Order: sequence, then C-alpha cells, then structure tokens
Amino acid sequence: MVAPLPFPESLCHRCAHLRVVESGKGSVFLMCQEPSLPKYGPQPVRACRAFSAK
Ligand code: SF4
Repeated sequence: MVAPLPFPESLCHRCAHLRVVESGKGSVFLMCQEPSLPKYGPQPVRACRAFSAK
C-alpha cells in the first residue's frame, strides 16, 4: 500500500526540486534536492526562495 503524501499543503509538492522518499518501513519523507537548502527542512513549506514550478 502506498502511504499518503505527508504535508499535502506544502509548497514542495508543486516544486521541481522535491523528491519523495519512502523508507523500508513505509514512512514517506519530503526531500529537497535544491543544493543550498537543507534536505529535510521544516514542513510544511509555505514560501521558498528556491521554488521552481514543476
Ligand atoms: S526548493 Fe523549496 S519549495 Fe522546492 S522542494 Fe525545496 S524546500 Fe520545497
């Protein structure tokens, strides 16, 4: 079963830098691939200087 995406309200879901990571135990994490930002910053993101629309 696919876990529901965390923080559906997060801006990250509309961003090209987002990678959704699933752990072996089925937990789902939002990972930012923008090099100047933390990979796992606080969620939900409401505004981001590095946002890039998908
Ligand atoms: S660049 Fe910003 S909006 Fe995009 S995935 Fe990273 S934290 Fe989220």
